[in-house]
Amino acid sequence: MPSAPAAKNAKKPASKPASKGTQHAHGGGNGELLKHPLFDELGFPSDPNNLYRQTVSSMLTAADMMNLPHHLKIILAQPKNEIMVNFPVKMDDGEYRLFKGYRVQHNNALGPYKGGLRFHHDVHLDDVKSLAFLMTMKCSLVGVPYGGGKGGIKVDPYKHSKGEMERIVRRFTAAIAHQIGPDYDIPAPDVGSNSQHMAWIADTYSFLSEVGGRQPEAVITGKPIEYGGSVGREKATGQGVVDTLTEMLPEIGIDIKGCKFSVLGFGNVGSWTARILQDRGAKLIAVMDHTGGILNDGGIDAHSLAAHVSKAGGVANFKGAGRIDKEEFYETKVDVFVPAALEQMITEVEAKIVNCKVVAEGANAPTTPAGERVLESRGIEVLPAILCNAGGVTVSYFEWVQNKTCHQWELDRVDSELNKHMILAAKKVRDARKKYKCGLRTAAYIAALERLQAAYAIRGLFP
Ligand code: GLU
Repeated sequence: MPSAPAAKNAKKPASKPASKGTQHAHGGGNGELLKHPLFDELGFPSDPNNLYRQTVSSMLTAADMMNLPHHLKIILAQPKNEIMVNFPVKMDDGEYRLFKGYRVQHNNALGPYKGGLRFHHDVHLDDVKSLAFLMTMKCSLVGVPYGGGKGGIKVDPYKHSKGEMERIVRRFTAAIAHQIGPDYDIPAPDVGSNSQHMAWIADTYSFLSEVGGRQPEAVITGKPIEYGGSVGREKATGQGVVDTLTEMLPEIGIDIKGCKFSVLGFGNVGSWTARILQDRGAKLIAVMDHTGGILNDGGIDAHSLAAHVSKAGGVANFKGAGRIDKEEFYETKVDVFVPAALEQMITEVEAKIVNCKVVAEGANAPTTPAGERVLESRGIEVLPAILCNAGGVTVSYFEWVQNKTCHQWELDRVDSELNKHMILAAKKVRDARKKYKCGLRTAAYIAALERLQAAYAIRGLFP
């Protein structure tokens, strides 16, 4: 599959529909749900809207249910390393600006740290910690030999020229070059970053790494095909969402063929999920992103919309649909709703009005605990992110294997290997749900924790 031009890979995410004020107004709901003695023991932030507290809390629910030993709970509740760097970069006007970058290495019990780099003006350490934590869980669940990490730069990539972005990315790479490596910590794209950025990172790293080091480009995945990338990586997260739906929908009584769906965020994950789902016979009805909402009951062509977004920068003014506001978007009746933008977008407010049978989490942590409780009470099934969006990192693993073995796989092989991982992960989640009689998110964490627990039992704790 030819990949889209590198510069167009990263799309702007939808802006968070609930303002910070709105979220705080509903913090009480999250607060009741986020009590655990470990939070005090480890000195967690007390704000119930803190994403890190929310994500760890979901893991602890699972850990308590499966009686995970206390030492594993505390190890997994905090990252191993939190790296923060401040670095100067010369702007096009000759002035210097200081940027802040992050790399959080959460856990490497199962293999090297692995996870994306987010380029966004609103990146904070606690967000990066949450996302790194989720990578550990995701990699464990989907059966790849990696731990979890995440990083980012506090920058709006759409506000800089290509030259400025290149200098920012290369300078950030130099700042963390001694903390990453093909066998130690392997970054990748995330919101706001694309394959061109990955190429600059690989190139910069190759100059700074040991002379004669093997395959320095394996330090990062999500690269352009021309420079060590893998076919199928660009669409991989969307492909994984569709593979998960294909596995999970039949038991919920929904046929993909003819099912109606809506998507929040039309960047890499949202647009690929929509295109692949449509090719399987489903109908895209509504989309919302940072430029607004659109609706067409007769169906929106996902391929034409993707072409429009790559030119216009957002879904607004797409000819094949009418405009809708935020409430109308959430209230649109569909079978499947795919949040594929940022974290914490489905709070109690949105959860009360969504009109769907299934929420397929394409984004990381899009649903707050209070939002999830509302969805549960309304009988809406949530396919959790650590299962649903694990396709990206799985194909990143294939890219890394191809780099290490100096080999290139064909698209059929990438897709079928990905499908095997997704089917197995979905089965583990279903089995855990049956055994523990719990929701799918808790079941997904239990399945992920079981693999980590087994690794720790064999490895032991040094010294
Ligand atoms: N950023 C993606 C994620 O959240 C991909 C990570 C990777 O490929 O390492 O899963």
